[in-house]
Amino acid sequence: MKPLSLYNSDGREMQKFVPLEEGQAGLYCCGPTVYNYAHIGNLRAYTHWDILRRTLERFGYNVNHVMNITDVGHLSDDGDEGEDKMISAAREKGMSVWDIAEFFTKAFFEDIDRLNIRRPKTSCKATEHIQEMIALVKRLEERGFTYESGGNVYFDSTKLPDYGRMALLDRQELNHGARVGIDENKHHPLDFVLWFTKGKFENQAMKWDSPWGTGYPGWHLECSAMSSKYLGEQIDIHAGGIDHIPVHHTNEIAQSEGAFGHKWVNCWVHNEFLLMKDGKMSKSKGGFLTLQSLIDDGYDPLDYRYFLLGGHYRSQLVFSTESLDGARSARRSLEGRVANLKREMGEWPAEGVHVEHPQVMARLKAFDEALGEDLNTPRALAEAWGLVKDDSVPAPQRLAGLYAMDEVLALNLSQSGEEEGAEDPQLLNLLHQRQEARAQKDWAAADAIRDELAEHGWKVVDSAEGPRLEKL
Ligand code: AMP
Ligand code: ZN
Repeated sequence: MKPLSLYNSDGREMQKFVPLEEGQAGLYCCGPTVYNYAHIGNLRAYTHWDILRRTLERFGYNVNHVMNITDVGHLSDDGDEGEDKMISAAREKGMSVWDIAEFFTKAFFEDIDRLNIRRPKTSCKATEHIQEMIALVKRLEERGFTYESGGNVYFDSTKLPDYGRMALLDRQELNHGARVGIDENKHHPLDFVLWFTKGKFENQAMKWDSPWGTGYPGWHLECSAMSSKYLGEQIDIHAGGIDHIPVHHTNEIAQSEGAFGHKWVNCWVHNEFLLMKDGKMSKSKGGFLTLQSLIDDGYDPLDYRYFLLGGHYRSQLVFSTESLDGARSARRSLEGRVANLKREMGEWPAEGVHVEHPQVMARLKAFDEALGEDLNTPRALAEAWGLVKDDSVPAPQRLAGLYAMDEVLALNLSQSGEEEGAEDPQLLNLLHQRQEARAQKDWAAADAIRDELAEHGWKVVDSAEGPRLEKL
């Protein structure tokens, strides 16, 4: 296996990845809360975890990738305060909470498909794992980590000596303020709800019977319950956004290590935030950009993927139209160069191309090293550029090297120059009419048709073999 080092948030240091089982990698990613569309910041997280998965796969691991779908509403605050996000969305849209969840789950998968993010092997819905969550609370109860108060079941954070270790939480400091909630039933401000029976919400639509009364689970519970069901009680890698370190992941660790009695996750990886020029993008505050809004503005979803690969996952990235434009032109130029190499080469041989060329091997090695050093996508992308521009390497070997890199970059390089739509009969008809106009030297009509094609997003390229359409 090629070496992979990842920055582990638990301990805050770079670590060599050593799987629990040789050749296997268990990867759990916190998934979406499906009460709205994913915004482009959320999609940053999933894109980088796709890079992680694809890197592991390229390095030879069999990856068991599991992701939860939070379809039980959780509160607008990561702690136990605020309004239930699912209920407020259902009320606003005049739909049931179940319909809201189904609608936005489908929208989420459409978005990740368009970004070439491989779907997890298991995507598990919280609402379908309530019994597993109840079993986990029972286990915590048996081991003395819980108390009931005001009708709810709480996790007693004082019972776990290293509660908050990943977040470097200072218990003394927190005792005096920072995260003090308004929930008077808590014995300690860091305690959190495992099972709500006395919700603040009389109209709670999703309720289940439990040994502690009819109610619903605390938000953090689902990740501990579902990850252990599908990946076992010890996990290689757990991923999520950096915002989850202080509360959600801290509480996931507390529940899992409390219940299992041993260390739970070997490596915690966290992505930094995508920022807008004027600050943080937030799902609950509204006014955010979706992938569809970028598509409506004429971008290809892969322009956004390319933009994201240009930044390291542990650095903040500021989104702007100008930087997305830059990514678009760079991606198109890469695609154009690959298309030229394909034309130069002609038919791809049925037996494939062996990459034994020294320059290609060196580039691929550097590419793997970049990814192996904490998923350095900007450097990996630079290696792809180095190879595409290296005229000393014949087209077939260059292409084979680039296609191998594209297993991780996932920019559809092998489809360059073959955009669907160029075969659209309506567009081909326009192209034909333009030829006719040109044959009759009706330049004005020919130009008008060229402009019409441009409005559809296509450029006419005249070549020795006749005109062809290329995406603008
Ligand atoms: P949510 O659906 O709100 O639970 O978020 C899904 C994932 O996106 C989580 O891993 C978050 O940490 C992550 N996330 C939320 N906002 C951003 C952002 N602006 N940039 C990057 N990741 C984010
Ligand atoms: Zn989670």
